[in-house]
Amino acid sequence: MFIPTRAAGLDALDEFVPRAGRDYARDRNADLGASRTNVSGLSPYVRHRLVTEHEVVAAVLDRHSLSAAEKFVQEVFWRTYWKGWLEQNPEVWRRYRRDVDGFATGTLPTGYDDAVHGRTGIDAMDAWARELIDTGYLHNHTRMWFASIWVFTLGMPWQLGADFFHRHLLDGDAASNTLSWRWVAGLQTAGKTYLASASNIARYTDGRFSPTGLATTARALVEEPLPPRTPIASDDVVGTIGERIGLLLHEEDLEASSLLAEHPQLTAPVATAVAADPGARSPFAVSDLVAAFTATAVDDAAERTLDTGGRSAQVLADTLPSTVLRWAESEQLDTVVVPYAPVGPVHERLGALRAALAAEGVGLVTVRRRWDSAAWPSASRGFFPFRERIPALVRQLVVG
Ligand SMILES: Cc1cc2nc3c(=O)[nH]c(=O)nc-3n(C[C@H](O)[C@H](O)[C@H](O)COP(=O)(O)OP(=O)(O)OC[C@H]3O[C@@H](n4cnc5c(N)ncnc54)[C@H](O)[C@@H]3O)c2cc1C
Repeated sequence: MFIPTRAAGLDALDEFVPRAGRDYARDRNADLGASRTNVSGLSPYVRHRLVTEHEVVAAVLDRHSLSAAEKFVQEVFWRTYWKGWLEQNPEVWRRYRRDVDGFATGTLPTGYDDAVHGRTGIDAMDAWARELIDTGYLHNHTRMWFASIWVFTLGMPWQLGADFFHRHLLDGDAASNTLSWRWVAGLQTAGKTYLASASNIARYTDGRFSPTGLATTARALVEEPLPPRTPIASDDVVGTIGERIGLLLHEEDLEASSLLAEHPQLTAPVATAVAADPGARSPFAVSDLVAAFTATAVDDAAERTLDTGGRSAQVLADTLPSTVLRWAESEQLDTVVVPYAPVGPVHERLGALRAALAAEGVGLVTVRRRWDSAAWPSASRGFFPFRERIPALVRQLVVG
């Protein structure tokens, strides 16, 4: 269903654009089965930045007015919002990681094994678990129902449900996934939960599912208060740029040309490389589909990412600091430039890499896209104040 190349992502965008206006606003909530055309199916591409948010919104606004495509543009900005919010509240990610690690080394709750193998006896849940495993994708509304039934009907920890999604979704993303699960559970908007009902499921699946025995109440989960938020750093480029620059792409951003075009001082890497580790999403096994999608996306990025000598990028065998260091030494680099990695597994990895490179006198420079720099600071509160900023952000970033 999802071919992991930038060309396939751009084709999918092209194909979807005519439907991104009022059709999307009217039909997007229905999940009528796997051959859906009412949503874009772009998330695996956007998640890896095989296609960027900027390209998606620009293509849509080339065809529709902002008022006609408002709903679709807002959905793209939901991703931006979640990433900006988690960036300012990294403790949420740290706690999630700690909790999932705790289950991985401790005891799993009763019912977990059945739930992740599609054996709960709730026909809809079982079909959705299998769809997720078989395709690496679920419709947004279905993700909401699934998470709600997981937490409130099956009474299982939200962290394990989020982990199950993160391991199987081709678009699995630290921010969008973790914070959406928290939103359903009543942690993200404190006290406000999402309760799935059989009638809503029947309506939006056109009667394909009408599960019985679902919870009829949803008491919000509670948590220790979070520490004060961390403001977004103001600099787009962090680190000292030396004489011999190598560019290292990773699975958070596989589109070098538009990233470097925003930063002319970085446009001449003498060497390029790509390294990814989807297994770092979880202490449990990440699906074969996710691993294969990432591996092919990495190969695709390597072919497209040339250095100043016209060589395509080297695909590194793994993401270990020692492997990156060997590449940097063989190319005699004094600087390794990476796309900024927002809070999540790649961010964790780059922390260790920075220290290892520094010990050998090689600097690590992170480069953030204008899109993220402009929008993230507004993601400090709820989505509704953020949403008010979208027209101005679109003027600044896309049509300005
Ligand atoms: C419990 C739960 C977990 C989720 N986990 C993820 C995840 O790991 N990764 C992920 O990208 N999205 C996640 N989402 C958001 C959303 O479900 C998917 O982005 C969307 O279903 C992808 O399908 P699409 O590309 O056809 O979306 P469209 O409706 O065509 O939307 C266009 C683009 O906007 C973005 N988008 C749309 N809705 C959302 C949203 N609610 N939050 C964030 N971005 C959005 C995506 O990049 C998407 O490709 C989750 C939602 C829930 C309720």
